[in-house]
Amino acid sequence: MEYTEIDLNVSDETKSMLDQVRRYAMEVVRPAGIALDRLHDPADVIAGGSLLWDVVKGFRELGLHTMQIPRACGGVAYEHEPMAGILIAELLGYADAGLAISMGVSCLPFNMASLFPVPEMQQLARDFCEDREGRMIGCWAITEPDHGSDWSLGGADPKCGPSVKAVLKGDEYIVNGEKSSWVSNGSIATHAILHVSLDPSRGMQGQGLAIIPLDLPGISRGKPLDKMGQRPLNQGSLVFEDARIPRNCMVVPDPDFITATGGQGLATVNGGMAIVFAGLAKAAFDEAFRYSRERVQGGMPLCEHPTIRLKLMKMFSLMEAARANARRMALYNFVNPFAPSVVHAVAAKCLSTETATHVASEAMQIFGGYGLAKEFVIEKMYRDARASMIEDGVNEALALKATEYW
Ligand SMILES: Cc1cc2nc3c(=O)[nH]c(=O)nc-3n(C[C@H](O)[C@H](O)[C@H](O)COP(=O)(O)OP(=O)(O)OC[C@H]3O[C@@H](n4cnc5c(N)ncnc54)[C@H](O)[C@@H]3O)c2cc1C
Repeated sequence: MEYTEIDLNVSDETKSMLDQVRRYAMEVVRPAGIALDRLHDPADVIAGGSLLWDVVKGFRELGLHTMQIPRACGGVAYEHEPMAGILIAELLGYADAGLAISMGVSCLPFNMASLFPVPEMQQLARDFCEDREGRMIGCWAITEPDHGSDWSLGGADPKCGPSVKAVLKGDEYIVNGEKSSWVSNGSIATHAILHVSLDPSRGMQGQGLAIIPLDLPGISRGKPLDKMGQRPLNQGSLVFEDARIPRNCMVVPDPDFITATGGQGLATVNGGMAIVFAGLAKAAFDEAFRYSRERVQGGMPLCEHPTIRLKLMKMFSLMEAARANARRMALYNFVNPFAPSVVHAVAAKCLSTETATHVASEAMQIFGGYGLAKEFVIEKMYRDARASMIEDGVNEALALKATEYW
């Protein structure tokens, strides 16, 4: 749009990479997101021939799936300047927040696998980096039908512990229970990061963490979830009935380790959410800004009416504040991966998602009746933004948890 972009002190190499990603974002991701959002049946989003697969393929062809995996496993982590990954996530959120989340989540089990010095995990990360077709897709399975915010809030109360339980028998864990239909990419994923209970007497503090293939006997899936916002982001449940998981897939078999490192997970996931939804806030602002110049009422464009100008200026201030804050937090946490600031990450997640929702709502107001029409993308942006205040943890529960990390 026609206003100055500040805070873009990046190298020419990063600028040219961003140009490539911007083309992919606006020519492939944005139109695919709009078309997928309109599909009545969420099963059609994941069907063969769906535009979702063009998005997956484009993401892989650009090598964006390798950006968090170190060179030893075939990736390019730490080979670009830190702002590159941050600005890429923002651009994808600008194009379509639901698809940005889907692409981000698709990498998570493999990014995590690369951190474990276990030959099978290193090979998994290597195979993922080589996959330019989208054959391997990840998800992160935490939420359960009976436990949502319980995961965000943690605690040692056995009543609030995970329902999915794993019991070690010989060289395998036997897993039983269900992960809820909110698991992003749950209906297409080939691999999952799976949170289980290893010691039910310790509630959420008795957790183990596994990285597993989802084609093992005893694992099945529910139908893709039908929901209000982020419809291009497919979601679905995972059901475990005496599923046998090889012992070495339980990459964190010690609950104390998860309790001690939980902050890193919170910082990573909330950091990503903050950037993506700052991107959506900007997209909603840009729609309103453009429309206010085109729509004439009272004999002049809307943007010339002082009340609309004030509204736009307020939206702009909030959107720029959320973006600046998200970028600053993400940069700090990128260079401090072992001691990230959880408080800043959660604050940025809450600020970005609440700003995106507010700015999208104000943008709809500027569109008037047309803001409610499917013909304009702003009603979709509003629905997408609204979901983000619940996604990856309800903002209130996350904020409460973050206060433990001052
Ligand atoms: C778009 C989207 C994507 C998602 N992706 C994933 C994913 O990839 N993987 C995954 O595992 N999950 C995912 N989730 C699930 C998400 O993490 C949960 O929806 C979230 O944690 C809230 O859980 P819940 O929906 O069960 O709500 P609940 O926990 O039932 O909360 C309902 C309400 O009660 C309040 N509440 C809950 N507990 C307390 C308490 N102890 N004290 C006071 N108030 C309380 C909450 O603040 C909220 O307002 C996703 C959700 C969305 C919307």
